[in-house]
Amino acid sequence: MRRFLLPAAGLLACLPALAEYPEKPITIVVPFAAGGPTDKVARDLAEALRKPLGATLVIENVAGVGGTLGAAKVAKAAPDGYTLLLHHIGIASATALYRSLPYKTLEDFEYLGMVNEVPMTLIGRPSLPASNYAELGKWLEANKGSVNLAHAGVGSASHLCGLMFQAAIRQEMTTVPYKGTAPAMNDLLGNQVDILCDQTTNTTGQIEAGKVKAFAVMSPKRLPGVLSKLPTADESGVKGFSISVWHGLYAPRGTPKAVVDKANAALRAALKDADFVRRQEALGAVIVSDARLGPAEHKKFVEAEINKLGPVIKAAGQYAD
Ligand code: ASP
Repeated sequence: MRRFLLPAAGLLACLPALAEYPEKPITIVVPFAAGGPTDKVARDLAEALRKPLGATLVIENVAGVGGTLGAAKVAKAAPDGYTLLLHHIGIASATALYRSLPYKTLEDFEYLGMVNEVPMTLIGRPSLPASNYAELGKWLEANKGSVNLAHAGVGSASHLCGLMFQAAIRQEMTTVPYKGTAPAMNDLLGNQVDILCDQTTNTTGQIEAGKVKAFAVMSPKRLPGVLSKLPTADESGVKGFSISVWHGLYAPRGTPKAVVDKANAALRAALKDADFVRRQEALGAVIVSDARLGPAEHKKFVEAEINKLGPVIKAAGQYAD
């Protein structure tokens, strides 16, 4: 009898706490360096979530190993709604790229909903003697064997984009991994690496200010607004090239449904926050529609992305370091 009574009493003791969630600050783990594109989305989202959740949200950057360190930390955190993860397409690409991961992507998280989609751009160091994609193509050809491509670690979005780009133009480059594209951008600005494929949330300002060379947008269509002059990779001759980065919010598996529901409701409200929408749109990000916001839809989408990216990554295998 005792054995049955104890868990029941434990459960009852939890109920008031659940009803009051959140009653202390919530940490959002960002699996990349501070100041980069994922970090920027997370910080804007944390601000927009503050009111609907009624709590302060703190960003913790757990950067390294292409975003897998931060994801692992959240997968192993207490499932109480106080440690969340903001991750991007890397949660799917890492699954296809790593032989083993310290977490199970589809089993170890509660999916709280998607956030946005962000296009990627191909940019180069300021001293690169190429000002458009045609010139870049010639320069890449002439410098075969000594081109450096920066990225945010195996499994990151910039790694995936760089991998797909190398495969598309059939040219192997020396890849230089960073803990995020904020430090990668610093080295690009300092002419220490040659090219980088990164989200518009990180590159728009640098492109607009003429501080980096901009060659192409990696999505299927040209972008509206300030980057509208930038041709697509497809237009530039990299036929069919297409990648865009999406973000989602996660909690550790076993987080109570009441907490998941509250976080999802807060996320829906945050994505309608006028300031959040304005800031995201100014950087080229598109907020996801309501229909894609449910935890079940989010999980289904990630599963579909894993299945879609698997063959792409396999086909580009020889470039995958
Ligand atoms: N943009 C990075 C990536 O390549 C991540 C980051 O630093 O936010 O995945």
